[in-house]
Amino acid sequence: MRRLSGKSVYKGIALGPAVVLKKNEYPVQRIKAADADTEILRLKKAAERTAVKLQQLYKKALKEAGEAGAALFKVYQMILEDKDYLDVIQNMIRREMVNAEYAVFVTGAQYSEMFAGMEEEYMKARAADMKDISDRLIRSLTGYEENEPVFTEPSIILAEDLSPGETVQMDKEKILGFVTVHGSVNSHTAILARMMNIPALLGVPVDLDAIHTGMKVVVDGLKGEVIFEPTEEICIQARERIHEEKEKLLLLKSLRGKESITSGGRKIRIYANIGSVGDVEYALENDAEGIGLFRSEFLYLGRTDFPTEEEQFAVYRQVVQRMAGKKVVIRTLDIGADKMADYFNLEREDNPAMGFRGIRICLKQPKIFKTQLRALLRAAVFGNLSVMYPMITSVWEVKRINEIVEEVRKELEEEQIPYKMPEQGIMIETPAAVMISDELAALTDFFSIGTNDLTQYTLAIDRQNERLDDFFDTRHKAVIRMIHMVVENAHRAGKWVGICGELGADTGMTETFVNMGVDELSVAPSMVLKLRKTVREM
Ligand code: PEP
Ligand code: MG
Repeated sequence: MRRLSGKSVYKGIALGPAVVLKKNEYPVQRIKAADADTEILRLKKAAERTAVKLQQLYKKALKEAGEAGAALFKVYQMILEDKDYLDVIQNMIRREMVNAEYAVFVTGAQYSEMFAGMEEEYMKARAADMKDISDRLIRSLTGYEENEPVFTEPSIILAEDLSPGETVQMDKEKILGFVTVHGSVNSHTAILARMMNIPALLGVPVDLDAIHTGMKVVVDGLKGEVIFEPTEEICIQARERIHEEKEKLLLLKSLRGKESITSGGRKIRIYANIGSVGDVEYALENDAEGIGLFRSEFLYLGRTDFPTEEEQFAVYRQVVQRMAGKKVVIRTLDIGADKMADYFNLEREDNPAMGFRGIRICLKQPKIFKTQLRALLRAAVFGNLSVMYPMITSVWEVKRINEIVEEVRKELEEEQIPYKMPEQGIMIETPAAVMISDELAALTDFFSIGTNDLTQYTLAIDRQNERLDDFFDTRHKAVIRMIHMVVENAHRAGKWVGICGELGADTGMTETFVNMGVDELSVAPSMVLKLRKTVREM
């Protein structure tokens, strides 16, 4: 038995088998082939295995993300079946008498380069697909895929680090907990763990090579501890606590359908934060009164090309329809910093958190922004949809957004495509936006305070930097005073104001926020009923 400590991001407890996630490390070497036919046979077998795997991924994506989300895997299958591609690889094996891995690697790189140099955006984007397909083939050839986690049963994931992209792709039903060597508690991966309602420990100094898949592990989010190969006694205690937590959850569930109102009669709306259509289930299960933040950028992660207008429209429409008339606030693309997608081709920056991100990308590349806005305005016809813009710092940005939205509206009108103008608000997550919130209030329908970034920018502490977690004081007086100022400026202009950053879920602050007059708190679905309990006990 061995215990290690880490930083906890969700205070639950989990017991289960470990699954170790290792990053792709497969150096491709050029090796002289003894026999070309043997290499070609290996290639064909690997292509067959990859095709089977892609079919499985297609089915999984179809179930979880619908036809639009699954389409990519069909494209991959088509590329893999393309005769030209496999012929070029086979020719190289025969001509140069090299191993199949090397021929796939070189051919994949050549195709990728060719696509990247094309004029049309759609063709350009196929470059990343070619690379991904080649990688999959190489993994199949090297047998690397056999080391990939096989989630036959719910497991505890151990990894060096997890990007938000990797996290969103995981099968949530099969994850009991997370343990990572690196990572900050304010990162989006941590936020995702909270949204998924699973115990997660970051910054655990574990040697992943010493852990084998299947090893029994307890993750104790309350104590911030992970126990490897626990004794039977510890397993019994863990099972008891898991049972107690389930009971507590049942008690909380009795608050479903009840109002979030204090004994003195003050009401506050308690909404949920989501990152995908799938999360709507958690929001409904926990009786969220609406969705206060749909981080739409998660739709752009873990893929090789921009989601199309139709794909986005299908997702937004599904979310508002599932919420059946309850308010759904969809935040426009907030990519950048820790949320990266290769196909954006963003340059490396020294200070990405203060760099080209969020609304800045949308304003500089209006084509991307307009595609999303078209999808949002169209989806607004199907339910109670609001749009919110991230990372605002200046009045001109809001004015420019309003102009672009108007252009999009006119286009839809001319094309006779049904649309509805949604309620539109902005996020207050920079000190600049706080200080001019009186002026901004006149230009927008509502404010939603993003305390994660507001804290990062106010305290000058990178939320991604795990070494600064002890300095990241989420209840810092400066931030609380700012929230107060924003609430007053919003109300003076007759606008509503919510909090959608993680601080909104801090039950030790709920009374302060209610007394300040905050109209809405939007939190991880698992926190909705806990907050309602706190409000009702006030
Ligand atoms: C925030 O900054 O508080 C917020 C809600 O947005 P995100 O965490 O996605 O940056
Ligand atoms: Mg933010």
